[in-house]
Amino acid sequence: MTKTIIFKFGGASIKDADSIKNLTEILRNRLRNRIVLVVSAMGKTTNTLENLIRLRMKNLEYSKECTILKNFHLEICQQLFPKDHPVFPRIDNLFSQLQNQLQTSITPSNYDESYDRIVSFGELISTRIIAEYLCSQDLVVVWQDARELIQTSSDFRFAKVDWEKTRKQSKRILNPILDQFPVITQGFIGREAKCQTTTLGREGSDFSAAILASSLDAASVTIWKDVPGVLNADPKIFPETQKFDELGYKEAAEMTYFGASVIHPKTIKPLANKGIPLFVKSFLNPDAGGTKIHGQASNQEVPAFILKKDQILITFKVTDFTFIDEGHIHQIYDRLKALKLRVNMLQLSAISVSVVIDDELFKLERLLNQLKNDFEIRFNSGLELLTILNYKKIDSEPLLEGYDLLLEQTTRNTFQAVRRKIEDQEKV
Ligand code: ASP
Ligand code: MG
Repeated sequence: MTKTIIFKFGGASIKDADSIKNLTEILRNRLRNRIVLVVSAMGKTTNTLENLIRLRMKNLEYSKECTILKNFHLEICQQLFPKDHPVFPRIDNLFSQLQNQLQTSITPSNYDESYDRIVSFGELISTRIIAEYLCSQDLVVVWQDARELIQTSSDFRFAKVDWEKTRKQSKRILNPILDQFPVITQGFIGREAKCQTTTLGREGSDFSAAILASSLDAASVTIWKDVPGVLNADPKIFPETQKFDELGYKEAAEMTYFGASVIHPKTIKPLANKGIPLFVKSFLNPDAGGTKIHGQASNQEVPAFILKKDQILITFKVTDFTFIDEGHIHQIYDRLKALKLRVNMLQLSAISVSVVIDDELFKLERLLNQLKNDFEIRFNSGLELLTILNYKKIDSEPLLEGYDLLLEQTTRNTFQAVRRKIEDQEKV
């Protein structure tokens, strides 16, 4: 039996009718049975859906935003399909379902599960449109609901995969179809034991591709991007970049951990465990080599620059005259874990613990409330975390010009700095 391959297409690769035509051309010579297409929401749809949820929760007017989102999809369809195509009633139907979901009340206590139920529409809609378009172009694909495949915990918005069940379901459902047809399914979404929709964390479609690859023992995964491959820095932020032709799993994982947004951080591990290579290729130049991430890559000397925005630096200071010990660190980490917050940088002093975390709605307030009786807490938001891997030969000073430096840390291989643009106001 030929092994399955997985192609993942993100929002930027399907942001308008022309991009969808481009995707179709990429697939024209490559599509065969035993291919799974994992597809994200179109363009910035997930952001718009997040915004709708926010408006709904504050009981503000959201119908205008909803109409804009619907029109965005309808306009794409109008450019791809004849007027009487069945895709139109389908999209209408999906938007009615979305509107129904938005009518139920959203409160901070049901926010996470409401979020998953609502944002999942981005992927459900995009895959419908693309499946219909591919079929209309004689590239027959079978549409599959990813929630029947990817089984998760009930940790809404950051659901954990139930690998056993997912493997079973994916094999049982996909293998017979893949013998005859390629399949298109949604990235990012799954389902928990009570059949409620879950999501795997923002940008989680790459991870979905890896989950399916691992479950089906695939030959490879290819992520189609708007960059030529994995670069040593984000070209939108750093002017000069170099492409890696290959990377080891470990190096790639490290880059994603520190915030390189080219691949979702959880993507590498399931692939590395099974030795499945990951290709990152450009959908603008599909025949070019891209980057191959695999187990036999040679060591990299090139430094990698990674910038994470919207960071908060929080310093917890003990209030009596004790010194910081494991107890304090545990206490802080326990609270962070319960709030599903990850520490991007940690620094200890004799009397304080400083952590850098992503800025997420409600969470800072909850964290501060839970720990304010035990620590004196100070925080700064609106910061950037700069990480340089393979740091050895770098002069970091120019990267900090025009910025206040709030925290700095250097290890043998890694340099990290928390910086803030000088004109920005101090919040606290
Ligand atoms: N559509 C989701 C997001 O924007 C998942 C993804 O694109 O990977 O976060
Ligand atoms: Mg995306």
